[in-house]
Amino acid sequence: MPLMNTKAMFDQAYKHGYAIGAFNVNNMEIIQGIVEAATEEKAPLILQVSKGARNYANPVYLQKMVEAAEKVSGLPIALHLDHGDSFELCKSCIDGGFTSVMIDGSALSYEDNVALTKKVVEYAHDTTNHPYITVEGELGTLAGIEDEVSHAVGSYTRPEEVIDFVTKTGVDSLAIAIGTSHGAYKFKPEQCTRDENGVLVPPPLRFDILEAVSEKLPGFPIVLHGSSSVPQEFVQIINANGGKMPDAVGIPEAQLRKAATMSVCKINIDSDLRLGCTAGIRKHFAEHPEHFDPRQYLGDARANIKKVVKHKLTEVLGCAGKADEIIAKYNEMNK
Ligand SMILES: [Zn+2]
Repeated sequence: MPLMNTKAMFDQAYKHGYAIGAFNVNNMEIIQGIVEAATEEKAPLILQVSKGARNYANPVYLQKMVEAAEKVSGLPIALHLDHGDSFELCKSCIDGGFTSVMIDGSALSYEDNVALTKKVVEYAHDTTNHPYITVEGELGTLAGIEDEVSHAVGSYTRPEEVIDFVTKTGVDSLAIAIGTSHGAYKFKPEQCTRDENGVLVPPPLRFDILEAVSEKLPGFPIVLHGSSSVPQEFVQIINANGGKMPDAVGIPEAQLRKAATMSVCKINIDSDLRLGCTAGIRKHFAEHPEHFDPRQYLGDARANIKKVVKHKLTEVLGCAGKADEIIAKYNEMNK
């Protein structure tokens, strides 16, 4: 099966109350760790590439590795551009074989966001020269830092704007801001409380906004960015082995699980993979200072990534075992 767009995935995810994991990929071990986990769990995948990842790894390398992942696993996989910031970048990805793109005009005025998103949608949905490419837009801004996307303070999505935005632009899915945040330091300590172990507990997500958006857009797939949970297990391993990540904090998984049963069909996870990767490498070198073969320490990084992703697929996203129903839906839609 070729790489697919996100239509069949979101159709099934919405109907059956789960979400597809959208994992950021930057190199071979990350891709392999994610795909090994999804293969064992028979789960669909969105593998996403940011502008920073394209600059780091070269888009052709990443694309060919994602194509290899599909070939090796036979899983339903979408190759998605994360945070496209211009029509030209989105067009270049579409022309190069991506099956889904995000155009993030959330830093622009509302009118300019609509105009830019509409332009990308018109190109992506025109099937003269390429298959139908799904487009994700964004309303509201997330705080935090992710590659080249950085906002000191976020602003919640305004539910009263969503019908107008979706109608005018024709987007296939919408990323909204309900209190998630990019990076491994999603909240300042003063925004949080602490539990009995002294670990920061962030303010709860704004489910009232998600509900208001879903009421206005019944059946429409919603996307959450900045949804890593920052597992304290990894933060502790990093800090115990020479790292320095005080007060790293993420979104509690129970809240993400709840969102996945609602209209949220795509949950973006990046920082948790980075933490697993770093914890694996730091621990490896602390235990084996004599090692210098990258396969040894990158192998540990890959094993941690696989562990993180398995946990997400089964315990958070609810999409384990759903690969077959998505392939069936895809075949039905593309008869
Ligand atoms: Zn994002």
